[in-house]
Amino acid sequence: MPSPLRLVLGTGNPGKVDELQALLADLSIDLVPASSLDAPPDVVEDADTLAGNAEKKARAFHQYSGLPALADDTGLEVAALDGRPGVHTARFAGPDATPDDNKHKLLDVMEGVEDRRARFRTVVALVNDDTVHTFEGICEGTITTAPHGDGGFGYDPLFRPDGYNQTFAEMPPDAKNEISHRRKALDALRSFLAHTA
Ligand code: IMP
Repeated sequence: MPSPLRLVLGTGNPGKVDELQALLADLSIDLVPASSLDAPPDVVEDADTLAGNAEKKARAFHQYSGLPALADDTGLEVAALDGRPGVHTARFAGPDATPDDNKHKLLDVMEGVEDRRARFRTVVALVNDDTVHTFEGICEGTITTAPHGDGGFGYDPLFRPDGYNQTFAEMPPDAKNEISHRRKALDALRSFLAHTA
């Protein structure tokens, strides 16, 4: 039997790690979380695009571990804010912003705004030696006027995907993973792996 592909996950965000592991659980891949590495690289996410940051993270973890590496970068694009915070989503409320700071800032800037359409966009990069492949997933929805739910992570309590009356944070993890931006990006990765295996 061929040994499974070993892949390093270039993220220290436990919410992301859980989702990535659940989303790839059925594939014959041995996922190595960044937290199991001795001194994982601390990557500054200063690229202009989600793809640039995802590639930067995956490249750093590949160089550090010698293994193929997978990283995602995600942005929240709000229609009424002309697509912001986008690539700056993690630092929306400032360089040291916590998830709570970011949620408060989003609620503040959206106060009284009627058009609440938004989308999550994820770009996943797979880096090995000289090759890089990127995969994108988008989930459309709206920004709520107050937080709802305790599940998920990041902006999940403020994001209600189209066609649902719960936020991501109110849904069971499996339900988010059925429809999320990350799911769609990983479906594209999955079909790439199926065709190159
Ligand atoms: P990054 O991709 O780790 O740079 O994350 C960008 C920002 O988006 C951070 O504030 C994350 O907490 C947030 N984020 C990333 N993915 C999700 C998600 O699936 N739901 C809610 N927030 C997310």
